[in-house]
Amino acid sequence: MPYPWKAHNLGVKIIAVGRNYAEHARELGNEIPEEPVLFLKPSTAIPAESGVFVYPSFSSDVHFEVEIVLRVCKEGKSVSLENARSFYDALTVGIDFTARDLQSKLKAKGLPWEISKAFDGSAPVGRFVDVPASMPLHFSLTQNGELRQTGSTDDMLNGFDSIIHHVTKYFTLEPGDLIFTGTPAGVGPTQRGDTFEGFLGDEKLLTCVVR
Ligand code: MG
Repeated sequence: MPYPWKAHNLGVKIIAVGRNYAEHARELGNEIPEEPVLFLKPSTAIPAESGVFVYPSFSSDVHFEVEIVLRVCKEGKSVSLENARSFYDALTVGIDFTARDLQSKLKAKGLPWEISKAFDGSAPVGRFVDVPASMPLHFSLTQNGELRQTGSTDDMLNGFDSIIHHVTKYFTLEPGDLIFTGTPAGVGPTQRGDTFEGFLGDEKLLTCVVR
């Protein structure tokens, strides 16, 4: 069945935050933004086959970006910082796959880089768990068994509640929406045959193979 994950989340959209970790902004030569940089991925960015990322033919430099992903549990617009916590009920780790070659070309021309981020299957997500009571959260990504990225929510420029507050100035949240909360430093290229594993603390929540 195509998009098995979607069957339970009709109409889900994915909202993503760019440059939410200072070290990662620096590694790509970007300025640290005053407000969160937001972009969208459509529901078709969830891989049709769970756990599989299909390397796209239009890129030869796809990068992995591991991120903590929030699951939205109720409709929300103009949500205050104080009320933000009640709008997400679970989280996991996911990968914001990015066609860096396309993105760089489009950025250089000052054009929107949507296609480099929002293409089919570009947003695999792991198994959702309850939001842990104690912060900060530590997460990591391995590529073929080698550690590539580690992150701590302490290093986020905008925390989860701040992201909800900013996002809902512009976008109405709907139940089942996902929010990618930004990647820490250490992003890099992938190729067909890679296996990625994403962890929250010591718990493996995501496995993704590249075909
Ligand atoms: Mg990202």
